[in-house]
Amino acid sequence: MQFQGAILDVDGTVVRGEERLPGAAEGLAALASRSIPRLFVSNNPTRPATAYAEKLRRAGVDAAPSEILTAGASTVAYLGRHHTGETVYLVGERGLREQLESAGFDVVVAGRHGNPERGADVAVVSIDREFDYDTLTTAVRTIRTEELPVVGTDPDAVIPAAAGDVPGSGSMIAAVADAVEREPEAVLGKPHEITRELALDRLDCDPADCLVVGDRLDTDIALGGEQMTTVLVRSGVADESRIERSSVAPDYVVDSLADVRAVLDGDAGE
Ligand SMILES: [Mg+2]
Repeated sequence: MQFQGAILDVDGTVVRGEERLPGAAEGLAALASRSIPRLFVSNNPTRPATAYAEKLRRAGVDAAPSEILTAGASTVAYLGRHHTGETVYLVGERGLREQLESAGFDVVVAGRHGNPERGADVAVVSIDREFDYDTLTTAVRTIRTEELPVVGTDPDAVIPAAAGDVPGSGSMIAAVADAVEREPEAVLGKPHEITRELALDRLDCDPADCLVVGDRLDTDIALGGEQMTTVLVRSGVADESRIERSSVAPDYVVDSLADVRAVLDGDAGE
């Protein structure tokens, strides 16, 4: 079939850490030679598209910022729709704070003093590599006292890094949600509907004409849903036992992004 667009995951699909994965260049070339527009969709909430383009360039992948959609962007879009003009209490890193502030939100940063922060309307929880017991204590007291709804940037509990997996936003969101005994109002990034909608808009593509490639069943493949053609790559976190246990079934399971060529040519086994 002739695809009109491709949604590509980044970590575990195109790169691991700062290194391009084997097969990534071949897969990208296969899409380019068929003039299929691509969009890199990442659950990384800490960098804006411009910085993410830099990261890809260092790994040898030339991508324009307009070809990148991150969890930061989908969080900003969600807040713009549901929390317009509100002040954000942020458990997260400076890179996300800058994205929220450049979108016009006032941000109260989570302290570690144990006293509730005042003046916020909504809590945003995300990866924070300085997150500790005192951060959690302050967050719990703030969210309870101020009765803040909790919004998470992305569900990734762990992230594949060069030296091994590290905890991601999902771990911090779970810690906060457990401690305040309340489910988050929304968790953005993939597979949230708003991310799917933003991606399809950006590609100007109907879901039935769109290909999704990624290494996570619960985010990348789940984003594709029933309508898109989904391809799971084994170059990231998915292993055989995860594939067998999951209720999410990809249309294709392949070794690397290079195998997208066979999917485009109709030669890949389902
Ligand atoms: Mg991935």
